[in-house]
Amino acid sequence: MQRFDVAVLGGGPAGYKAAAYLGNHGKNVVLVERSSAKLGGTCLCEGCIPVKSLSETAHIAELAGHSAAFGVGLSAPVIDLSAARSHYLLQASQLRRGIEQLLKQSRVTLLEGFAAFRDANIMEVTTAAGHELIEAARFLIATGSRAKSINAFPITGKRVFSSSHVLELSEIPKSLLIIGGGAIGCEFASIYRSLGSEIVLAEALPGLLGKEDAETARTLAREFRKRGIDVLCGARVESLEESESTVHARIVTDEGETVEREFEYSLVAVGREPALDGLGLEKAGVATEGGFIRVDSALRTSVPSIYAAGDVIRTPMLAHTAYYEGKLAAKSILGLNVSLEPYPPVPRIVFSEPQVGAVGITEEEVKEMGLDAVVKKQFFKANGRAVVMGADAGFVKLIADKNSGVILGGSVIGVQATELVHEIALAVSGRMTESVVASTIFGHPTLSEAICDAAEMIHG
Ligand code: NAD
Repeated sequence: MQRFDVAVLGGGPAGYKAAAYLGNHGKNVVLVERSSAKLGGTCLCEGCIPVKSLSETAHIAELAGHSAAFGVGLSAPVIDLSAARSHYLLQASQLRRGIEQLLKQSRVTLLEGFAAFRDANIMEVTTAAGHELIEAARFLIATGSRAKSINAFPITGKRVFSSSHVLELSEIPKSLLIIGGGAIGCEFASIYRSLGSEIVLAEALPGLLGKEDAETARTLAREFRKRGIDVLCGARVESLEESESTVHARIVTDEGETVEREFEYSLVAVGREPALDGLGLEKAGVATEGGFIRVDSALRTSVPSIYAAGDVIRTPMLAHTAYYEGKLAAKSILGLNVSLEPYPPVPRIVFSEPQVGAVGITEEEVKEMGLDAVVKKQFFKANGRAVVMGADAGFVKLIADKNSGVILGGSVIGVQATELVHEIALAVSGRMTESVVASTIFGHPTLSEAICDAAEMIHG
């Protein structure tokens, strides 16, 4: 039996951030990760990093297609998906070495194996060599999430894929049905369209991106359609049937129409769920609620010595919130006074073409909450930098409280929206007024000027 101050289950953003923090604060920490190749979690292995790398490939292909207008003659791009894959695997391994280094410097013991609780104080780790028992004063569960499957069409990995399977394709699909118009569905629709696939994006709700600012989501759907993506909103995929070479889909629209079509592959992107199978939560006495681990505001589970953070708890399932929660859990384990509430503003970013970035409240929430707010927009068509980049679709929208002028939220759709949104995030979390933003000198010509312009419009 080995003894540690803290045992962390899972080496994704929440787990490794917490382990390193605790190690740096004098704790004897073991981090258990089922495979050393999975260190970095979904984010590094099959999410954020590979998908964003592939979206760079897609972006370069798009740029090549528009190069003639800039006076650069390029022949039609030839896309080698295997080369793109080797490229992102290399990038991921560079980042993984950084995490290994961080853990080493923080004196964290890394143990490769699958951890399961025997009781609230001891867990058993199944390694390649056998079994090890670990006793710890505190535990942190950070085992992340996995793609949700739907009973009517389980993810088989043959023709019906999760986002992880789609990443492993070595040939560009001729046609791809994407089920779900959330962040994952929109990112893959955008990427594979740029690479040359015929895409149908079916979303059961009336618009893309769930509860995101409706005008932003409508603009995204319109820009996708201009790029030849067949966006079907209010369209529920009812069934999928796989054959040797195709997948047959039955899609029912809100108008009661049934569309039957064949595709080469289908991507199921209908959400994710906590990965808790086999952890022995019941043996430890850790309570769950709707499939998530229940935690209090100090990230303690129903067992006071066991904590949880990241996708396993009911907060936004994002790598950036996992980092935040991992550090918060580590502080809580150190006995510091922390609280999940109030949760800071969370940037909501989608790496599609055009990109989306939003933070704080939306225009719809302003109405629902009955707030007295001013909403102003600056279009990228009027922004010098966007025009010279040849990327003038979209806008910046700012929402400010009418009386105080405090910026409550904002939404950006267009070029570099995933970066620009952080300027609005700073304003929201710093409770800045529109006049502070409007009286700041922004460089010219920059995309950021659109934020200043929107603030100026509110200022009047
Ligand atoms: P999601 O929950 O955001 O979207 C799933 C969508 O599928 C919903 O809009 C739902 O209405 C739709 N849907 C469900 N069943 C359907 C059916 N039968 N037919 C048609 N539509 C159907 O889930 P996601 O996009 O899979 O993402 C999962 C999680 O990962 C989310 O929390 C997301 O925020 C996160 N994520 C974030 C990023 C990012 O920030 N860039 C990237 C990837 C994933």
